Amino acid sequence: TSAIELENVVKEYLSHGEVVQAVKGVSLDIAEGEFFSLLGPSGCGKTTTMRMIAGFEAPTKGLVKLHGQDVTNVPPNKRDVNMVFQSYALFPHMSVWDNVAFGLKQRKTPQEEIKRRVGEMLEIVDLTGREKRRPREMSGGQQQRVALARALVNRPRALLLDEPLGALDLKLRQAMQIELKRIQREVGITFVYVTHDQNEALTMSDRIAVMNDGLVEQLAGPREIYERPATAFVAGFIGTSNLLAGTATAGELKIAGGRVLVPGQEGDVTVTVRPEKITIGTDEPVNGVSSVRGTVAEVVYLGTYNSYAVSLADGAEVTVFQQNAHDATATAERGDSVWLSWQAQHSYVI
Ligand code: ADP
Ligand code: MG
Repeated sequence: TSAIELENVVKEYLSHGEVVQAVKGVSLDIAEGEFFSLLGPSGCGKTTTMRMIAGFEAPTKGLVKLHGQDVTNVPPNKRDVNMVFQSYALFPHMSVWDNVAFGLKQRKTPQEEIKRRVGEMLEIVDLTGREKRRPREMSGGQQQRVALARALVNRPRALLLDEPLGALDLKLRQAMQIELKRIQREVGITFVYVTHDQNEALTMSDRIAVMNDGLVEQLAGPREIYERPATAFVAGFIGTSNLLAGTATAGELKIAGGRVLVPGQEGDVTVTVRPEKITIGTDEPVNGVSSVRGTVAEVVYLGTYNSYAVSLADGAEVTVFQQNAHDATATAERGDSVWLSWQAQHSYVI
């Protein structure tokens, strides 16, 4: 059975006499042991979705199931999940050890067992030897690991993490992403991870649900989300993407200054193409590829690659990334007339 299921969950709030739909009908099926992310911009309904899984909010409509059981009306403390927040909410006057042991003590767990389990957990989060420290004597990353140990020591079957690394600076956040993934593998429980950071979601997740305006726009693995965005929103939100639209006849989409191969398509279509799939050159490409002519409007040097903004005849702009080979000078400069080309399989119809 699945670890977590949402069936057509809707959440409405009453705000100043008006109904606000925070979640507009979300269905999810999260597998046991999966690292699952909810990704989307601020206000799209991620936290509300998590709070319904945890039981802090009741859905207006729909069902929440944990490990096959309907828990829609079960209070949070009776659900076998735990939640970690961006603000760690540690007890400031307590040592690391006491912070982690707190829940077990409350449940009158035998002393010996507390000792063993807290010790084990501190080892997993790599804080052995810091048992006596207070939260304020530790870095943000260490505090977050204490919060994690405290949430995991009760052995919940699923852990919900709502932007847990949001307060950390970039370097620490990247180190913690790797740590979190390792910890999840080690404890083997289901993680549901909320983030607005696409790189974070792509790095850590087995699967990602991309949310926008209260709905899931795409649910797939990181690679598929990146390479085959299902909607224009997903294409724009994850990395950089080009959108080309028009009317297709006989599998070919005519655009200003060129054509896009869309095998099997007829009528109005929109395709996405990732910037790194496009080749920039001065010669007209051979047949059998998508190709378009344009003028270089901007070249940005970005270390390992260059980013080109190329204007088409109708004013549309196409972004192209090109790797910098160590012996290469830029292949095109601002104002140059160029040809862009890419293989048919790199255009995705959305
Ligand atoms: P996210 O976590 O993706 O930023 P939220 O789930 O917090 O988004 O919020 C989704 C939408 O619901 C937002 O428009 C937010 O203003 C609204 N919302 C969230 N909680 C409440 C509430 N308690 N009362 C009224 N509106 C709310
Ligand atoms: Mg939120």
